[in-house]
Amino acid sequence: MPSDFLPSLGQGRPYLAIPGPSVVPDRVLNAMHSPAPNIYEGALPQMMPDLLRDLRAAACTRQHVAIYISNGHGAWEAALANICAPGDRVLSLVTGRFGTGWAEMARALGVNLQTLDFGRSAPLDPQQVEDTLRADPERKIRAVLATHVDTASTVRNDIPALRAAIDAAGHPALLLVDAIASLGCEELRMDAWGVDIVVAASQKGLMTPPGLSFLWVSDKARTAADTRSGPRSPYWNWTPRIDAQAFYQYFGGTAPTHHLLGLRAALDMLIHEEGLETAWIRHARLARAVWAAADAWGADNGDLRLNIARRDARSHAVTSMRLTAPDATRLRQWTETQAGVTLGIGLGMADPTDPAWHGYFRLAHMGHVNAHMALGALGVIDTGLKALSIPHGPGALDAATQALLSP
Ligand SMILES: *Cc1c(COP(=O)(O)O)cnc(C)c1O
Repeated sequence: MPSDFLPSLGQGRPYLAIPGPSVVPDRVLNAMHSPAPNIYEGALPQMMPDLLRDLRAAACTRQHVAIYISNGHGAWEAALANICAPGDRVLSLVTGRFGTGWAEMARALGVNLQTLDFGRSAPLDPQQVEDTLRADPERKIRAVLATHVDTASTVRNDIPALRAAIDAAGHPALLLVDAIASLGCEELRMDAWGVDIVVAASQKGLMTPPGLSFLWVSDKARTAADTRSGPRSPYWNWTPRIDAQAFYQYFGGTAPTHHLLGLRAALDMLIHEEGLETAWIRHARLARAVWAAADAWGADNGDLRLNIARRDARSHAVTSMRLTAPDATRLRQWTETQAGVTLGIGLGMADPTDPAWHGYFRLAHMGHVNAHMALGALGVIDTGLKALSIPHGPGALDAATQALLSP
């Protein structure tokens, strides 16, 4: 063995620091470790009223919620399938790969798609949305699709400003918001913000394995669905799920038994123990620590840059960073094999066949993440930058701890 050989420090509990699936709390895992429960009577069916109440609380709404056994893509399709028929016009606002994905799905469903693309490093511009809606005098645009946090670019869009733009144009379009990355992590108030459909899934801020998704639906959106032309997919149709009389109707068939047990535990933690607003504050503080470390790494001719320059447009749940390619891939490989921390790939920032793809990575600080996990991940990145001789400024950990302590 050469004298400079350093064995891996990767043994120990691994930390999956990618933006979904996020870390699953042991309590959620333990709750799922159960014999198959009865789906016809008893505790599981009786769980539904409180579960729905807590799901409404998670989106800050008093309106309706529909559950699907699917990932986030399923919820995207469910939202579109309920309100749009082929030929209906939809305006999609794209600020990263996930906005593109939802728009592509709409097009595949035969929707007449109009897109405003704001690039991969900036939030949407409400003024452009207002101008576009004003240029639709016949009010043909049925819905506006927006991503609250685009998990690829890690931009956070200002949804109240978007609502204000739609109102300023006097346009009746429904506002649909993909909150898959943000729900449970960042401030999101469906009713107060005038959102018509919120889309989310179980495996990010809701800390439960992938497999459940949710639509929160306004009265206005329900009315729009009822006036939609043409046949409506019976499986995605939200009406029987929202107005369920029998347990199976919530799910369009057999219940996702163990996911419900896990979700129950996760909502206990988020809504009843920590509290939603406290969780928002925790995420904001952890995010500021990550940004402070990133700024330090980028100083003194350091290579590292945050993808989103505007502080007020950065996600509190996940942060995309840039290095000179291929250093981001080298860093990810080092942190995973040498230190047990798996960082996220740079999704949608460059084509995977383009060498530039290896210049991006993401650090998630989403869901079941506390200070020691965030500081641990930052410490591991700092160590990796040194081990790989990637140019970086000093003092990142000190900057992160200072940021954690500031109000
Ligand atoms: C993760 C994510 C999706 C896709 O969810 P899947 O569960 O992978 O289908 C869509 N939008 C956003 C903003 C996401 O973070």
